[in-house]
Amino acid sequence: MTGSSALRLDRVRKDFGPVTAVQEMTLDIAPGQLVALLGPSGCGKTTTLRMVAGFETPSAGRIVIGDRDVTDLPPHRRNLGMVFQNYSLFPHRTVAENIAFGLRMAGRSRAEQRDAVARMLDLVQLGDRGDMYPRQLSGGQQQRIALARSLVLDPRVLLLDEPLGALDKALRESMQFEIRAMQQRLGITTLLVTHDQEEAMTMADQIAVMQSGRVLQIGAPAAVYNRPESRFVAEFLGTSNIFDGRVRPSGQEIEADGVTIRLPRAASPGAQVSVSVRPERIVIGEAAHALPNRMRARLADRVFRGTHETFRFEIGPAARQVHAHRQAGTGPAGVAGRPQEDCWIGWDTADSVIVTVNDR
Ligand code: ATP
Repeated sequence: MTGSSALRLDRVRKDFGPVTAVQEMTLDIAPGQLVALLGPSGCGKTTTLRMVAGFETPSAGRIVIGDRDVTDLPPHRRNLGMVFQNYSLFPHRTVAENIAFGLRMAGRSRAEQRDAVARMLDLVQLGDRGDMYPRQLSGGQQQRIALARSLVLDPRVLLLDEPLGALDKALRESMQFEIRAMQQRLGITTLLVTHDQEEAMTMADQIAVMQSGRVLQIGAPAAVYNRPESRFVAEFLGTSNIFDGRVRPSGQEIEADGVTIRLPRAASPGAQVSVSVRPERIVIGEAAHALPNRMRARLADRVFRGTHETFRFEIGPAARQVHAHRQAGTGPAGVAGRPQEDCWIGWDTADSVIVTVNDR
C-alpha cells in the first residue's frame, strides 16, 4: 500500500482538546530524501514529528515506515533515530558509552559495541574523543555525538527536531552542511523540523511549508522559493513584493494602488489577483526602461549590506513601497542614490508569480 515511500503520513490528524494541531496531513518521503517541515511557531511541526516518533498518538490517520504500519507501535519499536535541540546526552557517561547505549539495551556483544562505536565516531569525525565526557565537548561536538548515538542502531528513518537550535549562527551553518553530507552519504530518510528557512533550504530535498496544521506547499527549495503558490509561502520564504489588484478587461494586467502591473499569464477580467515579485528580480535604472513591465519610482532609501544592497522605492500616487535587492559588485546600480531620486524600475513578467486568485 505504500508504493515507494520510506515514510508515509496518511491523513494524519492531531487534536488537543479543542485545538487541532495537525489537520489531515498527507506526506510521502522517498527513500534517502530529507524533507524539512518549515513554518512559524505553533503551526504543528513538532506535533507531526512526535506522532512519527510515537510520543503522540494521532487522532486520525496512519503512519507507515517502509511497508510497516507503525501507528500503534511504541517509539522503541519503530526503528527510528532521533536528535533534538537539547542534546540529551547522558552527562555521567563517556562519549563512547553514550553512543553504545542503544546497542547495550539491545543486548549486543561487547565486541559489536566497540566496532559500532568506532565506526560512528569516525562518521562524525570525533574518532579520538570516545573517552571524554559530554561536558568536555563543544555544543557542535555534542550534537554530533547525539547524531552518532541516534544512528548506531541503523534506523530506517532519522528525525531531527531543531537539532541546531542551540548553536550559534556560524556553527549552525557549518553543521547544516555537515549533517546534510552525512545524511546523503548514509542515504538515510530524514524528517527535519525547523523554523529557519535558510536551514531548510540548505539541508532539504523537499520543503513542506506549514501553516495552522496544514502543509500549504511542498517541493524542492528552488521550486517553493521561485514558484510560491500562496501569499503565505511567498512571504514566509524570503521576502516578496506583493501587488493586489483587479484584472483589467484585457486579462493581461492589474491595477494595484494606481500602478499598472503586467501579469505573468492571462487571468479572468475582474478577478482579484495578487502577484509576487522577489526583490532580487527587480531591475533598476536604464535596463528597466527596456522592459514591457516598468514604472517610474522614487528612491526612498538605499542600504549597503555587504553581499548585496537593498533599495526601497515608492511607486504610484499612493507611494506604495517596492523592495529591491542587488548583488554587490554587479556594476552601476542604475541610481545615483540621491534622496527622492526618480528612476525606472521593472521586472520581466516571467519573474513574477500569481499567488492568489479570487474570481468574482
Ligand atoms: P514551535 O516551532 O514553536 O515548536 P510547532 O510548529 O512545532 O511550534 P507544535 O508544537 O506542533 O507547533 O504545536 C501546534 C499546536 O498544538 C499549538 O497550538 C500548540 O499550542 C498545540 N499543542 C502542542 N502540544 C500540545 C499539548 N500537549 N497540549 C495541548 N496543545 C498542544
